[in-house]
Amino acid sequence: MKRRKAIQKIGLSLTAGAALPWLSACSKPDPEPEVRYEGTVAVIGAGAAGLYAAGILSAKGINVVVLEAAKELGGRIKSLRNQPSEIRNLLIADFPVELGAEMVWGTDSLFGSMVKNLNLPVLNLDELNKPVFVLGNQPKAAADWATDADFLAQKTFIEGIRNYTGSGQSIRQAATAVPTRAQALINSQVANVFGSSADRVGIKGVADSLKARKHDNKIFVLRGNPLQDIILSQFARIASAVKTNNPVKSIDYTADTIVITTTEGKTFEANKVIVTVPVSILKAGTIQFSPALPAEKTTAISRIGMDAAIRVVLEFRKNFWGEDTTLIWGGSSAIQIFNAGVARSRFYQTTTITVYGPRAAELSALSRVAMISALLAELDLFYKGQATQFVRRNLDTNEILTVVQDWSKEEYIKGGISYLTPAGTLTDRETLGKPVGTRLFFAGEATDATGDAGTINGALVSAEKAAEQVVESILKAT
Ligand SMILES: Cc1cc2nc3c(=O)[nH]c(=O)nc-3n(C[C@H](O)[C@H](O)[C@H](O)COP(=O)(O)OP(=O)(O)OC[C@H]3O[C@@H](n4cnc5c(N)ncnc54)[C@H](O)[C@@H]3O)c2cc1C
Repeated sequence: MKRRKAIQKIGLSLTAGAALPWLSACSKPDPEPEVRYEGTVAVIGAGAAGLYAAGILSAKGINVVVLEAAKELGGRIKSLRNQPSEIRNLLIADFPVELGAEMVWGTDSLFGSMVKNLNLPVLNLDELNKPVFVLGNQPKAAADWATDADFLAQKTFIEGIRNYTGSGQSIRQAATAVPTRAQALINSQVANVFGSSADRVGIKGVADSLKARKHDNKIFVLRGNPLQDIILSQFARIASAVKTNNPVKSIDYTADTIVITTTEGKTFEANKVIVTVPVSILKAGTIQFSPALPAEKTTAISRIGMDAAIRVVLEFRKNFWGEDTTLIWGGSSAIQIFNAGVARSRFYQTTTITVYGPRAAELSALSRVAMISALLAELDLFYKGQATQFVRRNLDTNEILTVVQDWSKEEYIKGGISYLTPAGTLTDRETLGKPVGTRLFFAGEATDATGDAGTINGALVSAEKAAEQVVESILKAT
């Protein structure tokens, strides 16, 4: 097959097989490999990016091995349903409860389209459009704040972010015109969504990401399936190539045969490697590269942040925040509250609270009891003591029923999502994603420069790009 044709078909082949991968697996015998390659490509990390990159290459007939540090696939896509029973049984809901990625960004994004192709029932959050905004500890809908000058100031600021043209500022520094009373709304709706606090996230990175996005800005959740289902069914064919419990500690790409060594001293040989680990793992120096990564890459890594992240699931006996409420913005501990059962359940009043950045680090340092008390105390302020009154407890022990996923304590994730610091630009993400020579490639959400870093879509787009680069490098050599 001619090179251009092979590359053009990369994206298509997986999308076409995507709807029913289990059927295509038992259809006609595999045709001849579309890309002839005697070597092996090793993919480090079996999150969305690693699985997708491996899936694309494997569909091209290329021999792939995926080395994953954890005991399971999926990385930052993790749901309550797949947890051990002692955790899963703490909370029961008749809809998916996510411990990591929760929402699908863009109905026409790569990931959005994959989900749509599976014809699973979804819930478009924009159609409900019932967020609540907290100012001065009062939660109200936007319409009820319509004459509040502070609320309007933060709204104007947020709507204008994409037009920002300066550089080197944090969101907080760019938002000085917004009165203190409304700053928490900016922190939660913008900084937290982008992965940290308003003091740490750069405004230019946010502005440029918003401008770079090509898909619509609709957000949806699945009604009945955890996101893990999509990843596992989509990439079912590649699961057998994944070797779990293999934390990589070094990659020696000095010679044609690359030697990958795990923390337990096992070695794997490959001819090309795609590294998809979180940027926090690269920052921590967990993987030693020989030769060392080029200076431009380490500089780019230093300008990309990845801070602590906590997801807390709390269930209540009564919905005191409003049946139709989707998200509650403006807290300083419970920074982003999702009414996870909205339009999905008549029985379970479950909220998922997501906190990134310094506040997540502070919560992470507390005991579980103290962490939950801090979150409930804030909800009590907003809802006049009802959080503590109605939170679901174990009937025998009176303990609060909750599930906490502390991403900073996951040894091979070490945080939430990548963000651009005030010094960072989308070029840093591009630099992080650039191949080193023709044997070492990079993917993963932090390398996405199309405006979707920090999302599953960004991870998938980056994987497609890295797979293309690998195929190109093979075809160029033949
Ligand atoms: C709390 C939270 C909420 C989120 N909400 C959303 C959301 O609503 N919507 C959305 O689209 N996205 C969301 N995201 C982001 C989304 O989950 C990620 O962007 C995406 O899953 C990242 O995929 P990835 O493949 O780049 O990285 P990962 O999923 O992190 O995969 C990397 C893999 O590399 C492995 N690894 C690390 N080190 C090594 C090593 N040394 N050797 C071998 N393997 C290693 C890890 O174990 C991991 O499995 C959220 C993330 C978090 C944490």
